[in-house]
Amino acid sequence: MTIDEKTGKTLAQLGLTDSTGIASLFAEVRAAAEAEAEAFGRGDVDEAEVVWQAKILRDRWLARGRGLIARIDQNWLRQTPKESRGVVGAEFNRLRQYATAQFEIDPLLAAHRQKTLARYEKRRGPDLTLPGNRRELGSIHPVTRVQRELEDIFIGLGFHIETGPEIESVYNNFDALNIHESHPSRDDWDTLYISSDVLLRTHTSPVQIRAMRKYGAPLYIITPGKCYRNENPDATHSAMFSQIEGLAVDADINFADLKGTLDFFAKKFFGEKTRTRFQPSFFPFTEPSGEMAASCPFCGGQGCRTCKDSGWIELMGCGMVHPDVLRNGGIDPERYSGWAFGLGIERFAMLKYDIGEIQNFFQSDVRFLRQF
Ligand SMILES: [Zn+2]
Repeated sequence: MTIDEKTGKTLAQLGLTDSTGIASLFAEVRAAAEAEAEAFGRGDVDEAEVVWQAKILRDRWLARGRGLIARIDQNWLRQTPKESRGVVGAEFNRLRQYATAQFEIDPLLAAHRQKTLARYEKRRGPDLTLPGNRRELGSIHPVTRVQRELEDIFIGLGFHIETGPEIESVYNNFDALNIHESHPSRDDWDTLYISSDVLLRTHTSPVQIRAMRKYGAPLYIITPGKCYRNENPDATHSAMFSQIEGLAVDADINFADLKGTLDFFAKKFFGEKTRTRFQPSFFPFTEPSGEMAASCPFCGGQGCRTCKDSGWIELMGCGMVHPDVLRNGGIDPERYSGWAFGLGIERFAMLKYDIGEIQNFFQSDVRFLRQF
């Protein structure tokens, strides 16, 4: 029996009195409605044909008196005894709502336009005149940017870039650099140990040892890379940070060459007017050792917040390589001398871009990174 035939009979005549049977009968009608909505306007039909088909479909479902919805109302709902009309009424209302939304002329024509458009696009491919999905470009991280800038200055002076592992032996990180186990300064580095003789390097200095053994003298290298210390994060400290160290080993080089090189470097990086200052200091791996400061790039040496009113900014440690360190690198300190320096790249990036918090570099906040 078709649904057209079924809607001509009462539910009693169809032998349906229980709610399960009634629900499945309405489900059958709903499925038929969905199939007819889906089939509507299929194939290559012209506009007039579509409108004509839409009217037929609307009348079939929604016409007064003889439409399917009207017949269901008359034959099923009204012929059901009042006391059991609830189930049929609820099913009928749902069906009528669906049919009204689907089978009025305007929704039918709108649905047809949608289908035609989809078919059309499928046939001719995407519309290339529409604006595309533009992916945002990233930018160079400020630490990387400053690292490259620092590297370029020293490459221009004839230095080569040398890198090494971030997981190092205790020997390369400490002993070979004259920081023996009993040496009190080993406590200055709050070290992250992996085992008793392996650690995360606390500075890039072990690369100096590796390079001396690998290449011998003369040697002019810079060693950019990440270092690790067990630091609590604050405005100027991070457990991970980046350094560049420089090492020059040659016959007849002395502290004057070191001063000249670093003075040139500071003028290149901070500007020609920059003045530099060297003060004695102590490091186990250099003798003599020094701290190098530059006139404050923000106030020109007048004193400001950044330089804490001193007019000077500490930039790096430096000194003449200790003869024992040269020896540990396989170089004869009687024939060669060397000098070295080491600086923190984040610190230079903070100075260059006037950034107050080192943590900004590692939080991956695009609002911060987008500025570079
Ligand atoms: Zn200043």
